[in-house]
Amino acid sequence: MKTSYFQPDNQGFYGKFGGAYVPEMLYPNVKELQDNYLKIINSDEFQKEFRASLKNYAGRPTPLYFAARLSEKYGTKIFLKREDLAHTGSHKINNAIGQILVAKHLGKKRIIAETGAGQHGVATATVCAQHGLECIVYMGETDMKRQAPNVARMRMLGAEVRAAVSGNKTLKDAVNEAIRDWISNPTDTYYLIGSVVGPHPYPDMVARLQAVISEEIMIQFEEFTGTPNPDCVIACVGGGSNAAGAFYHFADNENVKLIAVEADGHGVDSGETAATTQIGSIGILHGSKTLLMQDQYGQVTEPYSISAGLDYPGIGPVHAHLFETGRVQMLGATDKEALNAAFELAQLEGIIPALESAHALAALKKFDTKNAGTIVVNLSGRGDKDMETYMK
Ligand SMILES: *Cc1c(COP(=O)(O)O)cnc(C)c1O
Repeated sequence: MKTSYFQPDNQGFYGKFGGAYVPEMLYPNVKELQDNYLKIINSDEFQKEFRASLKNYAGRPTPLYFAARLSEKYGTKIFLKREDLAHTGSHKINNAIGQILVAKHLGKKRIIAETGAGQHGVATATVCAQHGLECIVYMGETDMKRQAPNVARMRMLGAEVRAAVSGNKTLKDAVNEAIRDWISNPTDTYYLIGSVVGPHPYPDMVARLQAVISEEIMIQFEEFTGTPNPDCVIACVGGGSNAAGAFYHFADNENVKLIAVEADGHGVDSGETAATTQIGSIGILHGSKTLLMQDQYGQVTEPYSISAGLDYPGIGPVHAHLFETGRVQMLGATDKEALNAAFELAQLEGIIPALESAHALAALKKFDTKNAGTIVVNLSGRGDKDMETYMK
């Protein structure tokens, strides 16, 4: 029998991607989570708390909006899943709410996270404040300068932001610092990862927590059309959590076409890109085997995208698997194409999307939408944070 695309084996592998490649000293921490995460998130108590928080704190369900003018332009019916309307402005809150509850069920008192653009750091600081838990966010020193407003937000929310000063002083270095912290504080500390990346069980756990997105789409799409299944679902991919959430309940129905959109940056061959599936190869990143951008010596190369949230040198193992099996079609959008798509949505629908989400919208120009049937685009976040870039 064919296994489900989103179901890893008991070692955390999706096909040849995934697993848990961690230093021996980290093994007990990861093992504790592996042994307990399913028990916790499938329990009635967790589900009750999680659902209540999604509803009353995050503002779910987020609407599914029929975009009439956008639809007219592309000659089909296009719906937007409005993750931009969730608390803190993106889908990231779904995962943060879920994992903070997992941490509490494990009896953890101290939360660590790492962040590149700062969006995941803000979501983590938010739920830590809500639950009164200590929060330490590692962030590359370079990123702290580039993303100063998010540093200010995290601090206002009561989190401590610690600068990672090694290497390029970006996300990779922040990950190293977070892992070092976790090794030094194995019993009381929970490492809250922000996407479907990291050692098993993080990719599966985060996908399950974000799966609420496609769960809601099915109910809402059925209200509009009488069937739960659109013909096509589109989402952008940094690490891949919003795409995992948007695809989750559709993946095993081959009638639903799934399109993921990576950030091409200045262009796939420009040396300034984050198009992992186009120029990447298999290797170990962030504790799992996946596709990543690396040089001939296996050193991770610095990714580039105008959008900070897509500026990640790999993709989660489940997306590597979906790509390799051909279940998901990967497209790319350059900085310029994403910017154009953002202005188009703003002026056709009165919605300013996050730059990340604008990459998903840019895909509408890359295939024959008139013959694609109904389309759902996952609008992963709102554009307030990107206004400075848009004005330039
Ligand atoms: C972080 C972020 C992304 C990229 O992360 P994924 O894990 O790939 O979803 C996309 N959109 C927004 C708005 C983000 O904040």
